[in-house]
Amino acid sequence: MSKKYSALASLLLAVIPAQAASKINVMTATQDLAAIAREVGGDLITVDSIAMGYQDPHFVEPKPSFLLKLQKADLLVVVGLQLEIGWLPPLITQSRNAKIQPAQSGYMDMSQFCNILEIPQGQVTRAMGDVHPLGNPHYWLNPDNGRRMAKALADKFSSIQPANAAQFVQRYAEFDKHLTEAEKGWEAKIAPYKGRKVVTYHRSWPNFCEHFGLNVVDYVEPKPGIPPTPAHSLDLINLMKREGVKLILVEPYFDLRTPNSIASNVGGEVVVLMPSVGGNKEITNYFQLFDYDINLLVNTFSKLK
Ligand SMILES: [Zn+2]
Repeated sequence: MSKKYSALASLLLAVIPAQAASKINVMTATQDLAAIAREVGGDLITVDSIAMGYQDPHFVEPKPSFLLKLQKADLLVVVGLQLEIGWLPPLITQSRNAKIQPAQSGYMDMSQFCNILEIPQGQVTRAMGDVHPLGNPHYWLNPDNGRRMAKALADKFSSIQPANAAQFVQRYAEFDKHLTEAEKGWEAKIAPYKGRKVVTYHRSWPNFCEHFGLNVVDYVEPKPGIPPTPAHSLDLINLMKREGVKLILVEPYFDLRTPNSIASNVGGEVVVLMPSVGGNKEITNYFQLFDYDINLLVNTFSKLK
């Protein structure tokens, strides 16, 4: 019996990869964070995200099914700047996973590693309804921040699993190289439209627009997180007419009626741009996110003249 058993045991050992048991179990708040973690972690990690890329990341339903995943996580990566404040904190508490509680080593706030725009001066609270009280949380839409996020994750994975540090460093270097090449292509495509003025629904795009040279003049929302009002929409129509702005960029989870009505008043166009990996089926990684958005913008600008 023992002979048979040991033969079976060695057979099993042979088919189970040595590192399978020790993969870093990563949970992320959003699919963008998961996409970058996957670039750097490869087969050495498992990764899953809570919010889907087609959802408004400010308002996600905290499903109990997420608890199971959080219970088993070695690392939880969040966007921070209060993006997830409405849905993630109770899940973290209820998971009772000591490793991923805020301030523990398994809790990683990615905003601490990135360049953050629109940091308010003085005291700002959510009492006024503004959902960006600590600065703009949509910072992953600047590839420079994507690079910073990847570096921070490579460092974190290396500290959790020092034996694989060389592989994380190598994967980061490959990502950095691939991103630098991709950026050249994106910048060349959008270069003819540098300085174009646009209106966006939510303040999702300052990072993207600053990086690629577009000029955001106003927003359909009077304040981040506050739905459009007739008075503000009228101001917007006047501003767009005065400044010759023809394009309104809208995230996939907002109602198109107000933007469509504003656009028809100014002879302009509404474009649904994707703010996140997973926003549609075509966008499964960080590179495809920019491919999709840049191509859509360039096509639209070329038609608008
Ligand atoms: Zn926002």
